[in-house]
Amino acid sequence: RAAAAPAYLSGLNPEQRDAVETLDGPVLVLAGAGTGKTRVLTTRIAHILSTDRARPAEILSVTFTNKAAREMKLRLGQMLGQAVEGMPWLGTFHSIGGRILRYHAELVQLTSNFTVLDTDDQIRLLKQLLAADNIDDKRWPARMLAGLIDGWKNRGLTPSQVPAGEAASFGNGRGGKLYAQYQERLKTLNAADFGDLLLENIRLFREHPDVLRQYQNRFKFILVDEYQDTNVAQYLWLRLLSQTPSAPSSLPGSTRQSIPSQEDGSPGLDASRRSGDDVGPSGNAVAPSAPPKNICCVGDDDQSIYGWRGAEVDNILRFDHDFPGAKVIRLERNYRSTGHILAAASHLIAHNEGRLGKTLRTEDVDGEMVTVTGAWDSEEEARAIGEEIEQLQRQGHKLNEIAILVRASFQMREFEDRFVTLGLPYRVIGGPRFYERAEIRDALAYLRVINSPADDLAFERIVNVPKRGLGDATVQLLHDHARKRKMPLFEAARMVIDTDELKPKARSSLRGVVENFERWQVQRDALPHTELAEIVLDESGYTEMWQKDRSADAAGRLENLKELVRSMEEFENLQGFLEHISLVMDREGGADEDAVSVMTLHSAKGLEFETVFLPGWEEGLFPHQRALDEQGRAGLEEERRLAHVGITRARRRAKLYFATNRRIHGTWNTTIPSRFLDELPSANVEITESKGGSGWGGMSGYGPSRFDNVESFGSSYSTPGWQRAQAQRSRSSGGSNGGRSGGFGESGASYSSGSNRRAPFTI
Ligand code: ATP
Ligand code: MG
Repeated sequence: RAAAAPAYLSGLNPEQRDAVETLDGPVLVLAGAGTGKTRVLTTRIAHILSTDRARPAEILSVTFTNKAAREMKLRLGQMLGQAVEGMPWLGTFHSIGGRILRYHAELVQLTSNFTVLDTDDQIRLLKQLLAADNIDDKRWPARMLAGLIDGWKNRGLTPSQVPAGEAASFGNGRGGKLYAQYQERLKTLNAADFGDLLLENIRLFREHPDVLRQYQNRFKFILVDEYQDTNVAQYLWLRLLSQTPSAPSSLPGSTRQSIPSQEDGSPGLDASRRSGDDVGPSGNAVAPSAPPKNICCVGDDDQSIYGWRGAEVDNILRFDHDFPGAKVIRLERNYRSTGHILAAASHLIAHNEGRLGKTLRTEDVDGEMVTVTGAWDSEEEARAIGEEIEQLQRQGHKLNEIAILVRASFQMREFEDRFVTLGLPYRVIGGPRFYERAEIRDALAYLRVINSPADDLAFERIVNVPKRGLGDATVQLLHDHARKRKMPLFEAARMVIDTDELKPKARSSLRGVVENFERWQVQRDALPHTELAEIVLDESGYTEMWQKDRSADAAGRLENLKELVRSMEEFENLQGFLEHISLVMDREGGADEDAVSVMTLHSAKGLEFETVFLPGWEEGLFPHQRALDEQGRAGLEEERRLAHVGITRARRRAKLYFATNRRIHGTWNTTIPSRFLDELPSANVEITESKGGSGWGGMSGYGPSRFDNVESFGSSYSTPGWQRAQAQRSRSSGGSNGGRSGGFGESGASYSSGSNRRAPFTI
């Protein structure tokens, strides 16, 4: 092992290698898109394992999505050339938090089979609480409260820690109380919401220092991808885990002063939360004598795109403060994109003021220019992109290497429609999820009740689906019983069928339901879970309900139910499957099928494709209206980072589109091309409308006359500049390289952006 460097190290450049081989003490890799940050993390795990620095179970590796975690596992296996025995703790913050929570559920008033609620359940529960408190749901929508609670949880705030002013902001001063009630209700339902997976884990660590210490001891190495998008809760969780375990005597149990209040409304958290006493038990974050923990975070401030969800780019900027003695490594070579693409993205992001600025270079060829195409409306946009994709396909490109990245999920429908028409395989990633379809949620509700009979929300969802004469009156009766005796609805049902409170018909119907579940619960332990699911769908009458349904989508629903059972095969048991469902952020299509990926820009983070289509670059859509309405430049700069993320997903082709007419929420709007288009460097960008003969000139209404539209937009918009010039040049030369003014991207040339905008930053 000592002689030749192992194969997994050989391809790395010196800085990457440094980041992989520096195994003692904190390391921050701060570098631009496509410079190999994720690759460094994966290689680092391989290195730790193959040098026997730790066993797999002693490594904690956090990714931003489940998809990224799967990818990392796959790569790791390839690098090591063998199956790793026992896997590292590799997953998202929430999946790992949930896993830890299950081991110690009793300590946070849950049992290990607790249910993870999705948004719908959450809303339903909050509605009940609002009703019980006589709060007008119209004036104070449950959704709004759900948003507030999520926000508090993202900031690591338990009900008692929410600043008074904020707690009073909902329901005439009752927001804080409702949050507390909600948390209590979750406990009685043996349930947690998504935010709890982390927040309750933090509470567990704080209130049970012995448990925390156990994990601090266990995790010898911590690795975090996309560190620029961690929120406060995630940050606090990491800080707790990354401390060197301290002696039990120095562990105060109280955490009351942990989060300073934020009544000033500042977007960031007070610096005081970093002072050390906020991060919990050990007083100072790291005792001076304690050896620094081996934590390695990688990220890029230019790709911070979750500010709206509470992410704090500050976390990455303060790394060396939080982890004294941290080694900061910069990577400057981009291995992903061709010259034109990298130049366009770098030039665009240089328009942001709040950034560190960095040098990025590629040794790749210039490649194809970034293209900008105007379409009449979104339908034509989808049609044009569909044709381009078919053309690429004819040229032998794989659909797997093509992605459509949209700003808002409503944009997807148009593409889905178009692709269905064309018979072009596609998969929606992270979007309207398969598991959120009504029929799937019903089926899941049955399974949830079998798994956890105290799951009232699930029980209520299906007690009368299909219709069995158990209407509102029956459900109300069950609720009354359950409340009086503090028992789950299912238990209440079991009681009620032995009384004469229900009419005979309803009683026998309810008895049928109870007996079914009792039987299924026994079968759960005896049968494979897929078989159980089939039995349940059959015996409950649920499948039959859709078989009898005459509506157009009934057949599709039946197929979805079949697909659901198929998807369960991947899991060892029902519990594992349900856990997966609750965590799944991104749906895989037919796993191996060659298909175009459709997703939002937000879920494209960290991914790469040969060809990337970026539709909808219009003012109001991208940048989004919400950002434009915001005070200050923060919102707009986040949109620009999102644009930058979009372009940098492309390896060889980045294709931007705008529609001059778009229907948003039912009304037609004439649009203005996005300001981001104007911010692209003309030397790297080409307008494609003029390519009359290149395959889509025959399209009705598409061609020179339409192209005039683009020009008129160029001139009506405040900074017309390049669009018109570019258009003319492109039209006259016709070639893809026509009019290129050079400068960037010769092989080996370097490009640095934003050097004069560099914010003060001292690492
Ligand atoms: P992002 O900021 O978008 O997440 P990243 O910095 O994580 O990007 P990676 O995804 O790790 O970058 O790498 C980008 C591409 O470059 C990948 O295809 C990766 O395999 C490749 N790559 C990284 N380092 C090297 C290298 N030393 N030699 C060859 N290819 C490399
Ligand atoms: Mg990455």
